This record gives sequence, structure tokens and C-alpha cells, in this order.
Amino acid sequence: MKRFRIHSLLTCVLFFACGGSTKADEGMYPISELGNVNLKAAGILLSAQDIFNPADVGLVNAIVNVGGCTGSFVSSDGLILTNHHCAFGYLQAASTVEHDYLTAGFFARSLEEEIPARGGSVRITESYRDVSRDVLSAVSDTMSPGERTRAIAARSRKIVADAEKERPGTRAEVAEMFPGKSYVLFLYTYLRDLRIVYAPPRSIGEFGGETDNWVWPRHTGDFSFLRAYVGPDGSPAAYSRANVPYHPEKFLKVQPKGVGPEDPVFVLGYPGRTYRHRTSHYLDYEQKIRMPYVAALYDWEIAAMEDAGRKDRSVALKLDARIKRLANTSKNYWGKLQGLERLDLVQTRRAQEARLQEFIDADPGRKELFGSLLNEIAAVYEAAAHTAGTEAALDQLGSGSILVSSASFVLSSARERAKPDLQRAPDYSDRNYERTKDRLFLSLQNYDHAIERRFLTELLQRAARLYPDHRVPELELFLQGGDREQAARSLADTAVRRSLMADSATVRRLLADPPDSATIHRDPVLRLVNALEPAYSRLREAREQREGELTRLFGRYVEVKMLFDGKKFIPDANGTLRMTYGKIRGYAPADAVYYNPITTLRGVVEKTTGQEPFTSPRELLELYRKKDFGRFASPELRSVPVALLYNLDTTGGNSGSPLLNGRGELVGVNFDRAYEATINDFAWSEAYSRSIAVDIRYVLWVTEKIGGATRILKEMGL
Ligand code: ASP
Repeated sequence: MKRFRIHSLLTCVLFFACGGSTKADEGMYPISELGNVNLKAAGILLSAQDIFNPADVGLVNAIVNVGGCTGSFVSSDGLILTNHHCAFGYLQAASTVEHDYLTAGFFARSLEEEIPARGGSVRITESYRDVSRDVLSAVSDTMSPGERTRAIAARSRKIVADAEKERPGTRAEVAEMFPGKSYVLFLYTYLRDLRIVYAPPRSIGEFGGETDNWVWPRHTGDFSFLRAYVGPDGSPAAYSRANVPYHPEKFLKVQPKGVGPEDPVFVLGYPGRTYRHRTSHYLDYEQKIRMPYVAALYDWEIAAMEDAGRKDRSVALKLDARIKRLANTSKNYWGKLQGLERLDLVQTRRAQEARLQEFIDADPGRKELFGSLLNEIAAVYEAAAHTAGTEAALDQLGSGSILVSSASFVLSSARERAKPDLQRAPDYSDRNYERTKDRLFLSLQNYDHAIERRFLTELLQRAARLYPDHRVPELELFLQGGDREQAARSLADTAVRRSLMADSATVRRLLADPPDSATIHRDPVLRLVNALEPAYSRLREAREQREGELTRLFGRYVEVKMLFDGKKFIPDANGTLRMTYGKIRGYAPADAVYYNPITTLRGVVEKTTGQEPFTSPRELLELYRKKDFGRFASPELRSVPVALLYNLDTTGGNSGSPLLNGRGELVGVNFDRAYEATINDFAWSEAYSRSIAVDIRYVLWVTEKIGGATRILKEMGL
């Protein structure tokens, strides 16, 4: 059946030099570019059409986006293999102190026992088409940067609405491939009934915890099985007991023999964001201002939550997913900061930019067009640096306090829902509103009074400590009367004691029947957020302005950089389907150190101390002692391989992506990168860019021997 419809091919000319790449290389290739990859030289025994076929079914039809991660269908009954850390939130939402699936793992013995993955959905790419001309026809040279941003957003929304009208049941999205230059419309099928099938115990799924996160050598069994369901008529439907397993058009063949060093491999998935086509100014801003601030604040929040959870498992259960999310980001940022320093990246980019400027200045035509470009970019970041403190205070207040985010949702909802659908902020449009609400109510379930008090106090006090010319005037009204920090503390105290913004029933009522001014006045958090709205509105406008300016400038930067380098680039990752390829390969992260690319069960046992996060299930230790490696052992290694290292180009969002051998068979599940590779998002290099997968043999061994989940193995044809 014809699955993919390409309305107009994105040509190779648009993105990068045609002619084919033959070695592992920087590159998350858009699916439209596969024809330009020399697959044979990469050791891949498939044609581009086997992977992606506009007229028929290809491997990509088996690849799904699961709540921001990637997953793949591994059976004809909608069984999905992804990471444990991608299913973590679902396991948490399903767990209670009595049934703690997060700790003990979960196995459904039959379809009937499979439990809902609350808030989860699955997205399958259906088709795409280039809409650059349409999007860019909405902007004109006379527009201000803010107007440009709004015009592009409005036109994209219109394109999306038209596409969804034309193909009911699908969801559309416009993705920016190159800022201000190229835009692609993707059509997706969304499956909304997702269920948990099997997850290993946390001591396997998250073995090594944050200590080992972003680290090689690795021994984590970071995998879980989920299943997509549809209505009895086969169309996407919300959870219902009457729903039936989804039958994908394609599912991957699992290869229990695995792979070895130097074997060719590739990954198909949905990498989130990279920032490789940015200048030194951006990197400098990230290095000096944004990342250290966020990482340090997150570390403080994590410590506070861990402290609260240590005393009470029911509290820990509420906070675990949030801790994990923040810890993942914080360690990634510290890794990037180290990488920026190690590679002296800002200086290196500055030197490149100096050469670029010389190139520009050497030709009067170029000078006329691009002469002031780098200075203009510098000016935008200088201005951003000046307002960074205020922005961080407002941002963190909005995201760190559940009360504040809930009150903002109530007030924004009233404001946005009163507008015509196409003019609303995306979260409040008809197509997204239910999902946005679900997310809010899930977060309210994890509300913890004591943590909220600590966070709100800290965030308000940080805002109170801003330099006078960075303060938020609207907040100042709440901080008067002598000791500003004391005022912030009592504001937080009153808010937590008296606000009803964490009460789901109240919030639900206010969403249905927006609050009048008396109601707003009565609730201290509604009152605070309402008073802060002009500040948030200024922030939004300033960002639109900045984004518009940067879109224009970086568009031109890419243009002149391509002229200078004499080649085209692959667009930065933007959450759309990509392919990357290379080899199973070790690396040398430091002087005289070389890391092998495959770890084994022996390492799990060696690392097991019995202390969190290095505990292992008794059964695992016993199986190891008996050398019961079963049918999934590697004859060469005489053990069960656990994790794999390879030189592919991946980033966040590639979590859960299938690692495929040269024949397109599944040999691992991508879940992380080595510490040195956190800098990938800014600069990729074969020397240090290494990604990590859990070996399929460990997935199968754990599922069979520890989970006793033979029905899953059978379902995969093993
Ligand atoms: N472990 C990573 C994440 O969760 C995946 C990656 O970024 O490589 O974001």
C-alpha cells in the first residue's frame, strides 16, 4: 500500500552537496535525503527505498515518536520497543506504594492486563512536503522581526489547519529546516491509546542511575515494551477497554545474534534539537549565562526533592520523574560546559568567523549583502545577555512552581480560548487543548506541598535579589515593606497555604467557567500571576522580536557560510524523522585511555555494590553465578552483551531509536551518549561523538530470564 506521499521532493541541492557520503559522518539526514547517502559504502545492504519508499512501505513505517522519544514497532500487533527512561513517567503515573511498578517492574501476562500509559501517545510520520514558498510568502522585507515571527507562525498554523482538514484524523506540523529559508509540512497519524506491556525492575532499567547517566562504559538495561491500540474500527481513539491492538504497516525484525566491533549500523529516529549552525555569540551566551544558571538551579531543586523523597516513598513516587528529568538536563549541561571548555569552542568559532568576515569583505557584492551580519548577530546576543536575569526569573517561576503554572494556565486559557482558534497560542488551539489540559492535571497529581513551598520561596527570593534595573516592576509591588527576601518568603507561604491552584476540581471548574476579578483577587497565586501578566506579555513580545531577528540573521549566516565552505549543510535536528549511520566503535576519551565498544553482564555484577543506584535483582546475580546466559549469549564474549557504543550522530529525542544492522534488523535500542558527546548538539566529531544502546541480547535475556515474559519473545517471532 502506498504509504508515503511526497508532494514535492526536497532536493539535495537544498541541503548538502550531492555525491554521496561514504564514511560515518556528521549528519542526521532528513528522510528525503537518503538518495544522496552512499549506503553501500556505509556497509548498509539496503537501498534507500527499502528504508523509505514513497510508493510503498519502508523501514521508516515502523518508527514512531513516543512522547518526545523514539520507538519502533516490533510485532504485527503494535508492540513497541523503546527506552525504560521514555516509559518512566507512565510507570510512575501507574504506580502506588502498594503496586510500585517503577521499582519492581511490570509485566502484563495477557493483553487484558496491559495498563494505560497515561498521557502517552504515538506519532507515525505519514508524509511530508516542502512548504517553504507558502510560509515565506507571508513575510515581507518591511516587517519588523516580531511581525515576521508572528506572520510565519500564523501562516504555518493555516497550512496545518488546511492539511488536517484535507486529511481528517491526521495531525500536521510545519517544521523549520533552515531558519527563514526552508519549511516542511509533516503529516502524522497519532495513536492515543498507549499501554505498558513490560518494564524491567528499576535496578535494571536505570542501573547506575545518575552516576552512570551520560557515561560509558555502561550497564543499564534501558528498555521497555509498550503497545499501541486503536478503536475496533482501526482508527485512532482515546483509551477504551473495547480498543484493539494496532496493526502497523511495518514492524522491525529483531536480530538476536546482535553485532560486533566495527560492524556497520544505523539509526532511524526523531532527534530533538541541535544548534550547529550558530555563531560564537550563541555559544558564548549558553556557556556564560544560560546553561550554568539552569544547571545550578536544577541541582538545587533535585537536592531538595531527593531530600523530601528520602523520608517517604509516597512523596518520592510523586517526585521521581521530575527529578529524573531535571537531573538528565543538568548533567547534560555540565557535560556541554566541560566540552565547550575542552574544545575551546567559542574561540575556535570566533577564529572561523574572522576568516568568514575576511571572505565577506574581500568581495564588494558580498560585503554589501553580508558585511554587517556578524556584528548584527553579536548585538542581538548582547541585548539578550542584558535581560537574561529577568527572563530566567520569570521563566523559572513559571516552570518551577506548580501553583504558578497552574494559575497561568487558567488565566491564559480564559484569554486565549476567547480568540478565534487560529489566533490562539498553540497550546490552547482546539487540536491541542485536551492534551495540554491532560499534562496539567498529571502534574497536579504530583503536587507536593512542602516542595512547592521551598521552590516558590527560592524562586521568588531569586527574583527579589535581581539588580535594581533587572527587577520585574509588577513583582516589586508584592515585595515592599523593608526586607525583600522576607517579603518573598511570606508571599510564598501565603500562596501555598491559601491557593487552590493545585486542586484539580477547582482548576477544572475555572477552566470551564473562567474566574472573575473577585475570584482572582481571592486566590493569592491567581492574583500574583494576574499581576505579572504584563511582564510575561513583554517577555513574549521581546522573544518574538528576537526570534524574528535571529531567524533572519541565521538564515543569511547559513547562506554565506555555504558560499564560504563551498558546500551545503544538513539542517539541524528539529524533531523530524532522520537517519544517521556509522560503526560499532570504541574511543579514547583521555590520554592513554581506550574504551571498548561492548559491555557485558560481568560489568553489571562488578559494578553491583548493593547501594543505590548500583543494586541488581537477586535473580540476575544468581543467573550470572550459574553462568546461565541462555540462548542470547555472545559466543565470542562468552557472556550476555549489555550495551553498545558507536560513532553515530544522535541527540535527545533519539532515545528509544532502534539501532539497526546493515540488513535493517534491530540489534539495540539507543538511549544515551558518552559524556564527551553531550557537546554533539553544538559540534560533532568522530573523535569523541559516541552514542550508546542497550544490546538487543540483553533486552531479550532480561525479558526472558528475569521477566519470564516469553509471550513477548514469541510475539517477536523468537
Ligand atoms: N539520554 C539522552 C536523553 O535522554 C539521549 C541523548 O540525548 O542522547 O536525552
